[in-house]
Amino acid sequence: MSEPSPTPPHSVLQEAEMRRVFELQQQHQYVVARTSARQRIAKLRRLHDTMLRFRREIEAAVWQDLRKSPTGTNISEVGVVNSEIRHAIRHLRSWTRPKRVGTPLVLLGTSSKIVHEPKGVCLVLSPWNFPFNLTLSPIVSAVAAGNCVVVKPSEYTPASTAVMRDILAACFPPEEVALFEGGAEVAQALLRLPFNHVFFTGSPAVGKIVMREASNHLASVTLELGGKNPTIVDETADIDKAADKIAWLKGMNAGQSCIAPDYVLAHENIHDRLVETVAAKLKQFYGDTAEARQASPDLCRIVHERHFARLKTLLDDAIQRGARVAFGGKTDAATRYVEPTVLTHVPEEAAIWQEETFGPILLVRPYQVLEETIAYINARPRPLAMYLWSSSRQHIQYILAETRNGDVTINDCGAHFYNPNLPFGGINNSGIGKTHGEFGFLEFSNARGILRQNRILPITSFFMPPYRKHNRLVKWMLEGVVRWF
Ligand code: NAD
Repeated sequence: MSEPSPTPPHSVLQEAEMRRVFELQQQHQYVVARTSARQRIAKLRRLHDTMLRFRREIEAAVWQDLRKSPTGTNISEVGVVNSEIRHAIRHLRSWTRPKRVGTPLVLLGTSSKIVHEPKGVCLVLSPWNFPFNLTLSPIVSAVAAGNCVVVKPSEYTPASTAVMRDILAACFPPEEVALFEGGAEVAQALLRLPFNHVFFTGSPAVGKIVMREASNHLASVTLELGGKNPTIVDETADIDKAADKIAWLKGMNAGQSCIAPDYVLAHENIHDRLVETVAAKLKQFYGDTAEARQASPDLCRIVHERHFARLKTLLDDAIQRGARVAFGGKTDAATRYVEPTVLTHVPEEAAIWQEETFGPILLVRPYQVLEETIAYINARPRPLAMYLWSSSRQHIQYILAETRNGDVTINDCGAHFYNPNLPFGGINNSGIGKTHGEFGFLEFSNARGILRQNRILPITSFFMPPYRKHNRLVKWMLEGVVRWF
């Protein structure tokens, strides 16, 4: 028999540490839950200021992980998290205030209120595409609601994770917020612990695994997932503005964004003009020549070889099947570069129609009548975002009425993401639950209904057994002769 190893394998050590921190947070949860709005605001302020103090480190980390420009990082990472914090600070007192609710006649003599209490110990699993934004924003909501949090960022952005570890350690003790590093196996080990809530941002495929694992403990889940976001540009739209915003959002983060337009359904009368204008905008943003664009400091790289290979396969497959490259098409495996690309005439059987592109490749397809766009969108899983470009109120109303998805921006792209008063999230395949602002706070809270009986002789005591003596009263109630609600 061989001697047992003196040091257990790393994963066993890490799993023991996860359990230790989880139990620590479980013990500490009521201390955190008892904190006042003022104390939570102080924590959020600390996180806000620490983010600013770490700005240079954040910029360097996101450049290393995604080759993203420092200004881009300040807008979509530091800026987004800090505006989420400022919004929470402004509104936290009103969110946490107990809300009185009305009393039905039958409960005369009682008073009722709703108290939003923290769920307890929560798990946040985040993706790589906006590492700071999508890891720290849920933490803002969880902390605002008074929870303890364990967070595991993506294994694909190690530089960003290292900075986040320092930021969080500077703001919170581990019994309040703790970070674990690692990939799927670490996420799986964490999911085995009985968290009260799991907040997951990532792909629908992994979202299903997370929901299954969470169901072992009946933990509630928020699933922020992805999908193929449609953009409709009709014949009444402002083509220049539409092309500008489509090119901007598709180019941002090299299309590695859950709200990026995936495909455009363009009315046949403006289809060619739209394609030409999107191409012109991409040149304006990133350079006139393919070489200039590749050298542009404003174009991110694809996060990992695996994702680069997936995009290259999708692109080659579409072209082989007859798609036309209206713009771009250049790739470089060594630097994981994919040029912003516009494809037209992509045949229906191309693999790129079947999965979320999640890269800088835009598909444009003409339609003749608006009904076609509805049929096209509704034949696919419900998307996260949808963009409508039209100056026809009728067209907009028609599309809104006939489709379902997470959020819609009309005559702009992605703008809904930046309004903290709107719920952000998907439906079915694109997600379950909403986040941002108060919606994020609610996701991490349990709405506890509390009824207080103030009368000595409450009306409900009329309904004690034997029940047959109430037959007449019950009959009148059912017939509406006596109102009881
Ligand atoms: P992913 O699903 O591969 O990974 C997300 C997280 O899950 C990571 O932390 C990863 O380590 C973990 N994970 C991976 N496999 C796992 C497994 N088998 N069990 C448990 N955990 C596992 O997603 P990604 O590639 O990092 O991100 C891209 C996806 O995220 C896209 O689909 C995109 O649309 C979506 N997304 C959605 C939003 C949103 O807010 N709705 C935002 C950004 C990205």
